[in-house]
Amino acid sequence: MKLNQQQVFELAKQGKLWAGNLIDGVNISQPKLENRTPIDNSLIGYIADGEARDVDAAVKVARNTFKSGEWSALSPQKRKEVMLKWADLIAEHSEELAALDCIDAGKPITECINTDMPATVETFYWYAEAIDKLFGKIAPTSQQELGLIVSEPIGVVCAVLPWNFPAQMFAWKVAPALAIGNSVIVKPAELTSLSAYRMVELAYEAGVPKGALSLVCGLGEKVGEALGRHPDVDVVSFTGSTEVGRLFLKYSAESNLKEIVLECGGKSPQVVFEDANLDAAVPHIMAAAFWNMSENCSCGSRLIVHENIKQALLDKLAIAAKEWKVGDPRQADVSIGPMVEKAHFDKVKSFLDITKQEGGKIAIGGRVHHEIGSGWYIEPTIFDNVTSDMSLFKEEVFGPILAVTSFKTEEEAITLANKTQYGLAASFYSQDVHRAMRVARQISAGTVSVNGFSEGNITTPFGGFRQSGFGGKDNGLEAFEQYSQTKVIWFVHQ
Ligand code: NAD
Repeated sequence: MKLNQQQVFELAKQGKLWAGNLIDGVNISQPKLENRTPIDNSLIGYIADGEARDVDAAVKVARNTFKSGEWSALSPQKRKEVMLKWADLIAEHSEELAALDCIDAGKPITECINTDMPATVETFYWYAEAIDKLFGKIAPTSQQELGLIVSEPIGVVCAVLPWNFPAQMFAWKVAPALAIGNSVIVKPAELTSLSAYRMVELAYEAGVPKGALSLVCGLGEKVGEALGRHPDVDVVSFTGSTEVGRLFLKYSAESNLKEIVLECGGKSPQVVFEDANLDAAVPHIMAAAFWNMSENCSCGSRLIVHENIKQALLDKLAIAAKEWKVGDPRQADVSIGPMVEKAHFDKVKSFLDITKQEGGKIAIGGRVHHEIGSGWYIEPTIFDNVTSDMSLFKEEVFGPILAVTSFKTEEEAITLANKTQYGLAASFYSQDVHRAMRVARQISAGTVSVNGFSEGNITTPFGGFRQSGFGGKDNGLEAFEQYSQTKVIWFVHQ
């Protein structure tokens, strides 16, 4: 059955939304954790409280299915057919999935419908279409030998997901991992399991073998750790905080040295040079800083601006900020919903006080909207006078608070941009093509955008430098490398 957004919101009101474990297609429904929406902190349903034994069961099924060849040994064309069918079903259920992410994470419904779901659907189609166009290589040998360099699926892959783009992060990991023939176990964030549950159900409907795709919901410390430490898991592809990313390296080191791919945090710079076209830059600067309540790994949370144009830019940003309506994210005209949970709200809010104490000056915003729903709503806020030794310059906030720092020279701007432990994304604004070439090469980040805010698209690899992660990239053909291993098959002429 396909639901529209009103039906999803009605089920939420009745507390009837559910995400259970799906292991070999079986819905294991007990015990359960409460699921509350950050919109007003009301109970919208339950999710399964997965345990280590659920992980064991899921890994066993995944391994057996992989060995059986039921999915892994299908021709790429056959897997493509099933993946395309799944993509069709996800496209048909877009409104329902968008509403589930909206209610679960407090994301604006308009964003979920217009941005997250089209990107999610595109990801499934793109990897389905790519899978039968991948070729191996032949080594340059004498005629007495033949060296084949082939790429094989790695086996049992675990996708450990964050809560900020639930459906889209599911797609980024699961689509390439499954398309290439692996068995995949998904562990969604405990705050946002609803769309993942529905997408796995749709996968079964499309014909993905039940043993090739399982879902284990629940707490990171239970399910996540059990997956990270499991001796029969080949890869964990993780997106989340740098802190938990470190734990996965430890789990791997202390168990079977499984591969760990980390897509972690960021503190991305946006540099505005004196010759920038400010009017064209402003919508991009605002989107980079505040899109998805800034609960975005590539959030451009440090605005590094030439001192001569700082005030002019701040004046324009003040006008633009008025367009970013704070409110109930189920309303179509709202751009800023609540922070995802109380603990996260408290953390983000604390930066308002810390930054004032450390010498920052509020230039725009700064209000907390206690009167809306749960009260975890913070308006787009811009702090001026932020120096590179201040917490707001250094730490990932993951909430709508932008730091403004000024510079005098290009060299100083680049030094400030790179003064971070992270290196996920960066953007800069200039009309000088020579400067653009120079600066793009000197900024240390996985994605550098010139005169705009972008994460690239499905064709381009996404991932960070330094403590933003390593081990592989999401998106592009590069994503397949996370989930495959290279084998050499050497024929000797007798
Ligand atoms: P998180 O690290 O708290 O959680 C991510 C996942 O890890 C969840 O599924 C969670 O249940 C699990 N987990 C938590 N504790 C665990 C533990 N002790 N052992 C094993 N697993 C555990 O991250 P989050 O709060 O969900 O997401 C926000 C973070 O994700 C931010 O830092 C953001 O920058 C990052 N992020 C990065 C990217 C990227 O592509 N680089 C994309 C989105 C989000």
